[in-house]
Amino acid sequence: MTKPHVGIIGAGIGGLAAALAMQRAGLRVRIFEQAPQLAEVGAGISLSPTAAHALNDLGLHDTLEAKAYKPEDQCVRHWRDGRPLMWVNRGQALFDKYGERYYLIHRADLHDALARAVRANDPDAITVDARCVGITQDAASATLKLASGTTHTFDVLVGADGSRSMVRHHLFGALEPQYTGYIAWRGLVPMHLVPQEILQPPSGVFLGPGHLVNRYPVRNGELLNFVAFAERADWTEEGWSIRSTVKELLDEFEGWTSWVRRFMELVPPNQLFKWGLFDREPLSSWTRDRITLLGDAAHPVLPFLGHGAVLAIEDGLVLARALAASTRHDDALERYERARMERAAFVVLQSRQAGKTFHDPDTDSYKERSKGRSADEGLGLFSYNPVTQAV
Ligand SMILES: Cc1cc2nc3c(=O)[nH]c(=O)nc-3n(C[C@H](O)[C@H](O)[C@H](O)COP(=O)(O)OP(=O)(O)OC[C@H]3O[C@@H](n4cnc5c(N)ncnc54)[C@H](O)[C@@H]3O)c2cc1C
Repeated sequence: MTKPHVGIIGAGIGGLAAALAMQRAGLRVRIFEQAPQLAEVGAGISLSPTAAHALNDLGLHDTLEAKAYKPEDQCVRHWRDGRPLMWVNRGQALFDKYGERYYLIHRADLHDALARAVRANDPDAITVDARCVGITQDAASATLKLASGTTHTFDVLVGADGSRSMVRHHLFGALEPQYTGYIAWRGLVPMHLVPQEILQPPSGVFLGPGHLVNRYPVRNGELLNFVAFAERADWTEEGWSIRSTVKELLDEFEGWTSWVRRFMELVPPNQLFKWGLFDREPLSSWTRDRITLLGDAAHPVLPFLGHGAVLAIEDGLVLARALAASTRHDDALERYERARMERAAFVVLQSRQAGKTFHDPDTDSYKERSKGRSADEGLGLFSYNPVTQAV
């Protein structure tokens, strides 16, 4: 299998990062995306030092420099009066220790940069309006079938089709989503509307019993992105884009500091969405013969450490390196799993734990409770490097 021909199902951040990494490693790759056009939802995304290493390696450092907000000190504040509970450095201190820092970026800006880079390498690499409805494989190849009825055959197929993955379902059967009891809102507020005094510093987290709010600038500081988490006993609908109202959000955060309520009041009506958080148990393998998974399809993760896209980007880079380093597909996919499964399971479990730590009823003891457990202190979240990890 010299220079395998790879088919990727799903052009999200994970699928595009994988495709770009494969192109740069000299592999032939095609991506099939069900949506009629490439687009990402309006929301921010935090990229940790490990994702930054991968994106630098993919030639996207200029995008991070041009489009992302680069936080320095981030303040964790109390829900009732906004007093600081803890300060965390997301910039120079991380750079000194890990060689990279955090970047806060609009999802569409990152997605667009990845897609442009893939298309610059090969204008025909991405096919949109191409929903995959079936996959088969034999000793020589793997084939995907699209809703249009056409089929496409490759040496290796990759399911990068998100947390409700059709490919995962086909390989491993139903992995039923469990509702976690957490719900969330996301919104974008034009920055010029936001009073400066509630942006000290611009990147901030607010903690209260059963609640968490994370807000930071994106798109060169033009927009303030926020995610607000709460708890609710029942929820049925899985999906990111259920419309909500400012009143519903403010009712949930009744009694909270004006540091939070003030920007919530300013969300334009078409920029506020809510969803319930669902979880799935980690898989013990992502691969069957010539077909493997990456990103949320392989390891859906709760968003409390902001690491889902980070993992998807890391997966893409490491999978491309494993394919480029091997002459056989089974060897390549084994190398990929060896380099990735432990890391992904670790982040999935830490993300679950982080939800509990943030939502603890005793907000005042947060600093004490999180000693040695915050991302850059004890967790080891940033010590992985997808560029240098052995494959
Ligand atoms: C509120 C919230 C905040 C988050 N914040 C962060 C953060 O700050 N940092 C971070 O790292 N992560 C964050 N995440 C997680 C992150 O968004 C996801 O983990 C990441 O987008 C996963 O990327 P993916 O490419 O694996 O899947 P997706 O982004 O879901 O992409 C899958 C793609 O596959 C396509 N597809 C699906 N089925 C088919 C099919 N049958 N045929 C063809 N195409 C198909 C879809 O249309 C989609 O384009 C957050 C998540 C949430 C919910």
